[in-house]
Parts: sequence; structure tokens; C-alpha cells
Amino acid sequence: MAADRRAGTTALDRLRTHYDSVDMVCPKCGYEDTDGKWRSEMNGSRVDYQHLCPSCGAIRRRTIRLDSTE
Ligand SMILES: [Zn+2]
Repeated sequence: MAADRRAGTTALDRLRTHYDSVDMVCPKCGYEDTDGKWRSEMNGSRVDYQHLCPSCGAIRRRTIRLDSTE
């Protein structure tokens, strides 16, 4: 488990993995959406993420700029 061999992945792949594995807890109701996902949408040089809480319906949004992450 010591080797980190992600050199071939793209920035988007890493971001997608990151958001799939963390931060699935709704800040409003505390529901942990373990089966949920952040939906990602490319918009030019940035990626918009959106997560809909199945418990209370709260929508969280995040924007990541690809050009400033590398
Ligand atoms: Zn919620």
C-alpha cells in the first residue's frame, strides 16, 4: 500500500476520485449519503460539482478550476 502509482491519471480523474470518497455528509441534516455521488460537469477549464442530499434535499455545489490545480 506504500506505492502511489497515479502518475498516469488526469487531474479530472483525481478530482472525481476525491469527491467520490469524501464529504458525503450533508452539512444541513447530517445524513451520510454513502451510496451517493458528486455529479461532475465540465465547463471549459473548470468542473462544477453538485450533490443532492436524498434526506433533506439540500443541494451543495463546488467549482474546481482545472487550470490552477496543476
Ligand atoms: Zn441533508
